[in-house]
Amino acid sequence: MSEVKNGWAHEFALHLSEGAPVDSAHAVGMEDLVIQALFAPCKPANRRTHTPQTLGLSFKPSGNALLQLYSAFETHKSLFQGDEPWAALIGSQRVRESLEGHGTDPYFANCDKAALDILQWLVAAYGVLLNSRSLVKLRVTSLDDGSHGFALYSRHDIAAGEYIWEALGKVPADNLTSTSSLSMIRTTAKQNQAKGQELERVLYGPARMINHRCKMYNVALATHDGTSAFVIYALRPITAGEELTLNYGRAWFGPSCPCADCVLLKQVSGHSTLANSETAKSDPPPTLAALEDRHGLVSEMKKQEAERYREERRREVLKNKEQVKENKKIRRRRNRMKKQMARDDDNASAASTSVPVVP
Ligand SMILES: [Zn+2]
Repeated sequence: MSEVKNGWAHEFALHLSEGAPVDSAHAVGMEDLVIQALFAPCKPANRRTHTPQTLGLSFKPSGNALLQLYSAFETHKSLFQGDEPWAALIGSQRVRESLEGHGTDPYFANCDKAALDILQWLVAAYGVLLNSRSLVKLRVTSLDDGSHGFALYSRHDIAAGEYIWEALGKVPADNLTSTSSLSMIRTTAKQNQAKGQELERVLYGPARMINHRCKMYNVALATHDGTSAFVIYALRPITAGEELTLNYGRAWFGPSCPCADCVLLKQVSGHSTLANSETAKSDPPPTLAALEDRHGLVSEMKKQEAERYREERRREVLKNKEQVKENKKIRRRRNRMKKQMARDDDNASAASTSVPVVP
C-alpha cells in the first residue's frame, strides 16, 4: 500500500472499533436479527431482493420482533443521513430505546444488556451505509453463480490506499457458536483476543458483505490493532459504482469457485477454477419462518391501514353530504326571511300610502 488515506467515517469507525470483544452467541444472533429485519424483503417472494443467508444455524426472533426492529429503524432513518457519521450513533440509540419501550416484543424484553449493546452497534455500523457521504453502500446483486446476494458497492471514487472505514467488521471473543461458516477469519496476536485461544472467529458487520474474487479483487482486509476490528482499504483506484471485492484465500471456494474470474477462465481455457482446494463452501441457510410471519403481519397491517383509510373517506363523504344539507337549509331559511321582509316592506309602504299625513 503506497499511501494511507482516511475518509469521512474515520473517527466514527475508530469509536465503533473500541471495546472488549463480545461473545459469539450475541454477535451471531444479533447480526442475523439486524440483517433480516433491516435488509430482508417484507415479502419473501419478491424477486428483486433475496432472503439473506444467516451466520447462525438457528433463528429465534419472531416475525413480530423483525417487524418492530424494522419499524423502529424506519422511524429514525433520517438520523442516519446527517452530515456527520455520528448521527448514526444517535439513530441507533433511538432504535434501541424504542425496542426497550413499553409494548415491545417478548424477544427484546428478554434480551440482556450485552445483546442490546451489540444490536445497537450493528444498527450504527450498517445504518451509516445509508448516508450519501459514505464511501460504500450495501446492495443486492446477481452473483456470478446466478443466485442473489449482498454486495458492497463504492458510492464515490476511492483512491488507492484509502481506508474504507465504513466497511468495518468485528470478531467476537470466542468461536463456541456453530455458524454456517459464511465469514470465518483468523485474528492476529496484536488484536485484543485472549492469548492462547483458537484464533478462528466469525466476522460480523458490513465487512462480511464483501464478495470474493480470485484475481480481480480491489480491496484487502487489515486488522485494527488493539481492537477486535477489521477494516478495508483500496488496493487500487476504485471508481464510483464499482463492486468491492476481496480475495478470501485460495482454499475458500475450492474447485467449484463461482467468482467471475473463474467463470471467465472456464469459458476461455476449459480449466476448472483458479482456486484449487478440495473443500467447497456451501452451507444452506436455515429456513426463516420468521420472515414469512413478518410478511403475514405486514399484509395484515396494510389491510388494516386500507380499511382505516376507507372508513375515513366514508366519514368524510358523509360529513360533506350533511354539510350540503345544512347549507341548503340555511339558504332556504334565508330566502324565506328575505321574502317575509319584502312582504313586510310592501305592507308597510301600502299602509303609509293609505293613511293621509296630518299636516
Ligand atoms: Zn474464483
